[in-house]
Amino acid sequence: MSDLKIKGLSKSYADTNVLDNLNLEVDKAEFLVLLGPSGSGKSTLARIIAGLEKPDSGDIQFNGKSLLELAPKDRDLAMVFQNYALYPHKTVFENIAFPLEIADFSKTEINKLVNLVAVDLELEHLLDRKPKQLSGGQRQRVALARALVKQPKIFLFDEPLSNLDAKLRLQMRNLLSKLHKTLGKIFIYVTHDQVEALSLATKIAVLDQGHIRQIASPEKIYRQPADTFVASFIGSPPCNILDIEGEEYLLGIRPENIFLEKQDKANMSLEAEFQSIEYSGNEYIMRALYMNQTISVRLSTERILNPLIKEYIHKTPQKSRRLTLSLYFGEGDMCYFNRRNRKNVGE
Ligand code: ADP
Repeated sequence: MSDLKIKGLSKSYADTNVLDNLNLEVDKAEFLVLLGPSGSGKSTLARIIAGLEKPDSGDIQFNGKSLLELAPKDRDLAMVFQNYALYPHKTVFENIAFPLEIADFSKTEINKLVNLVAVDLELEHLLDRKPKQLSGGQRQRVALARALVKQPKIFLFDEPLSNLDAKLRLQMRNLLSKLHKTLGKIFIYVTHDQVEALSLATKIAVLDQGHIRQIASPEKIYRQPADTFVASFIGSPPCNILDIEGEEYLLGIRPENIFLEKQDKANMSLEAEFQSIEYSGNEYIMRALYMNQTISVRLSTERILNPLIKEYIHKTPQKSRRLTLSLYFGEGDMCYFNRRNRKNVGE
């Protein structure tokens, strides 16, 4: 039985349909990521679960009971936002203690719980500081500590790492994964960042204009996207969606599954014109043009065997030089999409 059930949830503002009849189930101890482009309705859904907004229709049930009747403070959940929302005049200790104070915990309990969570999040030495005396990463850990301290059953995160630099984001991602494993509670996490979604989630719900396009594990979302929207939203660069003459379906093929040399498993090929190549440390991303469609190809540094491509990497080639390449790929690595409704026909 799933613990959190969202049933037929709809919400609109004036003439904008922000959420349209959403259905979603979240099991105990699941890390659900709500993933979608800006404006797809992710935050609205999180805010409705938290009780900060009311839906127009539908229900949210937790352990068989409707949450909608309950005030935010009675919902047994905590929310962490992008902009920390710490009280500037309170110390780190007081910020973390605040939810416990409102809930009338005793001074002894407050001391014990705040200190426990401060140790977990490496904040012990900062408890007397004010938020403005902290770095961005430390502030976000305080916000996280404040959410953790009451040990709620559901955690909601709304783009919590967007204000942090790349290194801190990675550290915080590790911390969140670890916390999720040790706490075994429901985590619901809003992001537009597909890398974050793939690395954190046990289950991803992909949203587009208030509709859920797919709910599945990160692996399934990546390998078997439900439609061309999901395929082109996930992956960097995203899945190539190719319209090849004579093919009944649109073909979806990931950049890492296209080869410059013939392979046993790559039994199909096409000719494309070389466009550009980008270096990114351990690999190159090459773009080639096929019938007005740009194809991205991921090449490990060892796979650059073609001397002409090498010439493009290291110096400006002569402008007049055109380079036609054979690109090889295999049926086993492809998805097929219906041309009309753009759904994956293998689903
Ligand atoms: P996301 O989190 O995916 O970026 P949001 O849930 O914030 O999307 O917003 C979804 C849509 O609802 C957007 O078009 C946004 O402009 C609109 N919206 C959100 N909140 C309000 C509001 N309070 N009043 C009017 N429109 C809103």
